[in-house]
Amino acid sequence: MISIKSEREIELMKHAGHINYLTHQEVAKHLRVGITTKELNDLAHKFILANDCKPSFLGFEGYPASICVSINDEIVHGIPGKRKIKNGDVVSIDIGVEYKGYHSDSANTYIVGQVKPEVEALVANTKKSLYEGLSAIKEGAKISDIGSKVESYAKKCNLGVVQELVGHGVGTSIHEDPDVPNYYTPNTRVLKAGMVIAVEPMLNLGSRHVYLEENDWTVRTEDGLPSAHFEHTVLVTKDGYVILTGE
Ligand code: MG
Ligand code: MG
Repeated sequence: MISIKSEREIELMKHAGHINYLTHQEVAKHLRVGITTKELNDLAHKFILANDCKPSFLGFEGYPASICVSINDEIVHGIPGKRKIKNGDVVSIDIGVEYKGYHSDSANTYIVGQVKPEVEALVANTKKSLYEGLSAIKEGAKISDIGSKVESYAKKCNLGVVQELVGHGVGTSIHEDPDVPNYYTPNTRVLKAGMVIAVEPMLNLGSRHVYLEENDWTVRTEDGLPSAHFEHTVLVTKDGYVILTGE
């Protein structure tokens, strides 16, 4: 069942989303060549706690860190560690923040230093595909309209759409009903005002195919080409949506 949030719940989720946004700002400020992914994790962790919130991902289904840092061919769930950021890396940062039992989920992809133009286009177009998907959202729209929009934009840009991972509802759990795929499905479920969902296209420079690393978390592109990931948690309204994880 897809939950409809009360005014009180929406206020708590707005706060969780705002701290999520500020945590992204904090991580982005420190993202540079030579910093380790563990250092990025630790400063996000400290920042979240200092704002009376909790990192949603830590311990979720056994996940061992506070944020995900996925580099180049890593699509999602890169586990922070000793690895250092290098010039030319494509770095996806995914953050979950919990405030008083309510969650927010948001991802951004950054280019560190110089990359080929096609990699720059991958990152810019994945971000655009998120806003294409969001543009379908309003009360009465089908959930599948979101995926259709993302997919048609990605196809136009000749990018692969990851299908093994999807967006989702957000609330008292970081992952709730419904699934929000980034591709067309014949699903006829309809959005209602008060639902909160995370939309999160993961687009690949090459094919859409992926594999799971031996650590059972990190998902990589099968062809080794880079991937990008953008995500916002949004509130569905009568005539559109409100981004909870933005400024
Ligand atoms: Mg996320
Ligand atoms: Mg998510």
